[in-house]
Amino acid sequence: MSVDRPRPLVAGNWKMNGLKASAEVLDQIKAGYDDALKGRVDLAICPPATLVAAFAEKTAGSGIGIGGQDCHAKESGAYTGNIAAKMLKDGGAAYVIVGHSERRQYERETDADVRAKAEAAHRTGLIAIVCVGETKDEREAGRTLDVVRGQLKGSVPEGSNGGNLVVAYEPVWAIGTGLTPTAADVAEVHKVIRENLAGIVGPAEQAKVRILYGGSVKPSNAAELMGVADVDGALVGGASLVASDFLGIASAYRA
Ligand code: PEP
Repeated sequence: MSVDRPRPLVAGNWKMNGLKASAEVLDQIKAGYDDALKGRVDLAICPPATLVAAFAEKTAGSGIGIGGQDCHAKESGAYTGNIAAKMLKDGGAAYVIVGHSERRQYERETDADVRAKAEAAHRTGLIAIVCVGETKDEREAGRTLDVVRGQLKGSVPEGSNGGNLVVAYEPVWAIGTGLTPTAADVAEVHKVIRENLAGIVGPAEQAKVRILYGGSVKPSNAAELMGVADVDGALVGGASLVASDFLGIASAYRA
């Protein structure tokens, strides 16, 4: 990482996993972070919404941020089952993931939906982690860069900057499969994301936006991925549920 790069961020997406007893995993992550990583890499944990407030209380002042996995675009109202960005913020969250491919796929979220959610996050003072990434078919059809460019253009709101936006490149076919793109493929996509961000957030801010790679990141491949240009951290699914794995990944990413 050169001196002008932002501090790396390793974010864990717990998805629909975790009960009150999982605070034990958070305690282990916090202990490992305090020991060797604090100040060298930022950590975020995005547990299920039921755990956000308790986790935020536990990590207050620790350098570990807590995040939601989704938010509604509206501030409040008759949207049964949804959670507003303001509620996450009220619970102590600092981040929210928007546009994860599982939501794009299972909840049919469009770029416009993702953008509206990111806008809600920004209005509330949350950092939006906006996910983009191609499917296997799109990659095989040679459409990866066009897909990612389109998602970025459609999903990143005006007013985004290095302080309120993180972009996660997550090839859909790499999520939870154990498959990862080559370092060269990751480099190509991250370069295009960085170039496109210049047109969206402006030339000065684009360098400050952290671009995470996500998709089957493990302690064994983290160092190689972090060595790729324009990779500023990782969004980690399965491996973030095991403290030693998550810490192993974060160690590879520390500045
Ligand atoms: C994810 O779902 O954001 C993810 C990266 O999952 P995994 O690390 O399990 O592939």
